[in-house]
Amino acid sequence: MTPEEFQKQMQEMMKRLGVNGPFGPYSEASNASGSSVAGQQPAGAHPPEERNLRDEFRFEYKPKDVKEHLDQWVIRQDEAKKVLAVALCDHYNHVHKVLEAEKRGEDPARFSRNYTKQNILLLGPTGVGKTYLIRSLADLIGVPFVKADATKFSETGYVGGDVDDLVRDLVRQADGDVEKAEYGIIYIDEIDKIAGASESGGRDVSGRGVQTNLLKLMEETEVPTRSPNDISGQFQMLMHMSQPGGGKARKARTSINTRHILFVVSGAFEGLTRIISQRRTTGSIGFSPAQPPIENADEEYDVLRHVATRDLIKYGFEPEFTGRLPVRVICHQLRSSDLFQILKYSAGSILQQYRDAFASYGIDTHFDDQALMAIAEAAEQEKTGARGLMTVCERIFRSFKYELPSTSLRSLEVTRDLVQFPEKALASLLESVRTEIDQQQIQDLRNFFKSFKSQHGLELSLVSDAEAFLIQQAKALEISVTRHCEERFRDFHFGLQLVHRNTGRKSFELRLEDVGDLEKVLSRWVVESYQRPSGPPDSTPSSS
Ligand code: ADP
Repeated sequence: MTPEEFQKQMQEMMKRLGVNGPFGPYSEASNASGSSVAGQQPAGAHPPEERNLRDEFRFEYKPKDVKEHLDQWVIRQDEAKKVLAVALCDHYNHVHKVLEAEKRGEDPARFSRNYTKQNILLLGPTGVGKTYLIRSLADLIGVPFVKADATKFSETGYVGGDVDDLVRDLVRQADGDVEKAEYGIIYIDEIDKIAGASESGGRDVSGRGVQTNLLKLMEETEVPTRSPNDISGQFQMLMHMSQPGGGKARKARTSINTRHILFVVSGAFEGLTRIISQRRTTGSIGFSPAQPPIENADEEYDVLRHVATRDLIKYGFEPEFTGRLPVRVICHQLRSSDLFQILKYSAGSILQQYRDAFASYGIDTHFDDQALMAIAEAAEQEKTGARGLMTVCERIFRSFKYELPSTSLRSLEVTRDLVQFPEKALASLLESVRTEIDQQQIQDLRNFFKSFKSQHGLELSLVSDAEAFLIQQAKALEISVTRHCEERFRDFHFGLQLVHRNTGRKSFELRLEDVGDLEKVLSRWVVESYQRPSGPPDSTPSSS
């Protein structure tokens, strides 16, 4: 059955159920990503009816406040933070002004006429904090945030996703609150992958089509709250409307306006530096000498800072598309010293994740600075920015996380040595835990003989290798040393009492060969006790 046939059948069913009103609004506005994930509300289905965003929306930050917030989470990228802070304040101050004007019943158009939305183009390598910056901004101002890769969209929306889904996803992020979604942030990564055919080598031919679709969103459009392909969403709405009181849902918003949604697009833009350098060296003579290759990340950053609209057009972007991205932000590659700072000072440091993981088993972790530096150095080699930290930590701590919870260890000191040679460090840690366990067992063993003495008034002592022998035996039998002694010495006191009666002897020493065959040593003591005259009560003759 095609979606159209299904929809027709639904409409007929609606008529039979006697639900008045056109089914129309929901057929033109539906949830496309099919992503009516269980438990999540379909976009626009149940708007909070009483609240009014106009009364609630506050934006009282200054750019420096915003940067300070970012500083807690994102290390370095200072230039990027400043530009973002200014763009964000401009955008949300404008939104605030428009909402206030609407509240006063004025026409907000006078504010919008000369205003260009501060959509942002973020350039920089992977894992350096681009998403993290924007997500932290969204958290600060409490607006919904959605992220997607540009590569998942197709021009038609039939294969892959439809860019409108992003807007509907914002509504879902805002728990069905369309008004709130209208002030959210949409982040589209890998935007460089939808550059059309260009001098830079040209990629995806449908990229330009996706650019055009995105352009519509970035300008201003009404996106239906339900995608035409969202059959289950249609069905849910039908059910909702057919329930008593469900008719209220007819008040639900059927579209989302994108005027105030902030768009951030990002990418690594491989090859863009060549275009920029070429333009900058061509100069007035129009001649472009051969470009020396870019040597390092710092040089790349310096070149990217000069990006101009014509470079982006040459790269394969539509002039209108780049025109809608007036704010350009460059993030630089992270060095090992930056990665060290991220571990040590970022409020979102992954170390906390490891601390928490070990703490769940009662293990305290302490990372010394040399260890953090070693982790950072190894992560830099991964060339995936701060993402490398996770890769490296997983590699180092995987076996520790597996082994340590089953030991008696209560603290873990992470040193440079441990980071560089984790297997060796784990082996010696486990060995030390084993020794510690033995100490505990010796204690248990001695406690057993202490209570033997208080119960029977007879003292049994073991030379140290005899103790080790009993502990080994218990281990081999996989029982506790106490239980092993209880079994092995269960009837021992009867024989000893006999010896005590015959000789007055109260203390006995067991050597290694004695614990190997307790019956033999006991019978010898008994036999000897009948042969010898009674001695002084506390004498301790040799067992040989
Ligand atoms: P991308 O630049 O590819 O968007 P992300 O922002 O998603 O990278 O970074 C991945 C993760 O790495 C973040 O969630 C964060 O934990 C960490 N991270 C990246 N850059 C920084 C940074 N500059 N400061 C602190 N943490 C960072």
